[in-house]
Amino acid sequence: MTKIVVVGAGIIGLTVAHELLKDESNQVTIIAQQFPTDFEFATPYTSPIAGANWCSFAELNDKFTQEIDKNSYLKFQELIKNVPQANVTARKDITYIPINKFKTIYKGVKVLPWFAYGDMKKIIGFRELNPSEYDTSLFAYAYEYNGMVIRTGYYMTYLINEMWKMSGDVETSTSRFSMRRATIKSLSEAYTYHQHGRAEIVINCTGLLAKNLLDIESEEKEKLYPVRGVVFVAENTTGMKTLSVVDIYDPEYPEEKLYFMPRREGELIMGGVFQVNNDTKDIDPTFIHRLLSRCKKYLSQHNWENIKIIRTQFGYRPFRKGGYRIERKGNIVHVYGFGAGGFQSSWGAAAKSVELVKEYQNKSKF
Ligand SMILES: Cc1cc2nc3c(=O)[nH]c(=O)nc-3n(C[C@H](O)[C@H](O)[C@H](O)COP(=O)(O)OP(=O)(O)OC[C@H]3O[C@@H](n4cnc5c(N)ncnc54)[C@H](O)[C@@H]3O)c2cc1C
Repeated sequence: MTKIVVVGAGIIGLTVAHELLKDESNQVTIIAQQFPTDFEFATPYTSPIAGANWCSFAELNDKFTQEIDKNSYLKFQELIKNVPQANVTARKDITYIPINKFKTIYKGVKVLPWFAYGDMKKIIGFRELNPSEYDTSLFAYAYEYNGMVIRTGYYMTYLINEMWKMSGDVETSTSRFSMRRATIKSLSEAYTYHQHGRAEIVINCTGLLAKNLLDIESEEKEKLYPVRGVVFVAENTTGMKTLSVVDIYDPEYPEEKLYFMPRREGELIMGGVFQVNNDTKDIDPTFIHRLLSRCKKYLSQHNWENIKIIRTQFGYRPFRKGGYRIERKGNIVHVYGFGAGGFQSSWGAAAKSVELVKEYQNKSKF
């Protein structure tokens, strides 16, 4: 048996632990400062706040992230088809490009994502909309694909339940899974938290808080930064059934975005902002008014009257200069820095992390 401690119960820690448990010779303990059903998030704990959808941000030449996101997309499609309790729901995902952004930022050049090309185009059902399908006085072009909405809190609980199922007896000497609430100051402490004695391998899935670990490389601390997001959770009385993104550009409020995720149980996620290096908790009270007036302008086919906002959520996307860190250093595997894409990259990132663990296990045999 290989004893492994995963530090972090965000989407990355949970998915990596889930994939490690598929190998019956692994025993996994997750330790975390915060877990998915906590009522308050006192520290940056991003996963429960996310929407979440799949909209890969990989650049056209970034094959590494594309592979990770494709792997994750295929896995989520399996869950949509076969596992309703995972709370991943199929939704068309439509993106509209307003004329002012097309002219000023994109300089009149049509910009399509990497999944508009090659085999992924077919897999994902990518299609440019005909001009008759959108308002040509507002938009330069628009496209859609077969997307999804992941109900993050329920989905993370599903992953935990799956791990208990794989584990066997709970709290006995043969159990293969356990969870422990603890805050560590350094990764070297993590080895001592395994349920069956000292761990051989530690997986670091601490998100933005990786920068606070005493034994993380100093250059790594410099690379991590928050990008704050603010979203409103509303009762969906708008009639919207598709995920909708309007790629707005407002020079007065350049950090403000416009996107919507209709969840299965009749909630609508209304976003949002993208505020680089903002780690505050203050929310501009005028933002919701601008958001609603943009809704009425750009998405007037839906009903925005008397919309009931249930709550306002904010979180800090754990960005890392240079992109995701999925790297093994001896018997520590680092898996963090997922920025705005932790859910859409989760399965692919976990697959790569498992490869790194196997590489260590094979090396240590000799
Ligand atoms: C508003 C918003 C919308 C988003 N929408 C999407 C979306 O639609 N699609 C998408 O793919 N992504 C989305 N994201 C991004 C996504 O949420 C993140 O990429 C993802 O949650 C990062 O997960 P993580 O597991 O790396 O970190 P986290 O979720 O932050 O988890 C970190 C874990 O590590 C633990 N931890 C940290 N330090 C320690 C320590 N010292 N000791 C013990 N435990 C520790 C924490 O308690 C926590 O359990 C969104 C983010 C925001 C804010």
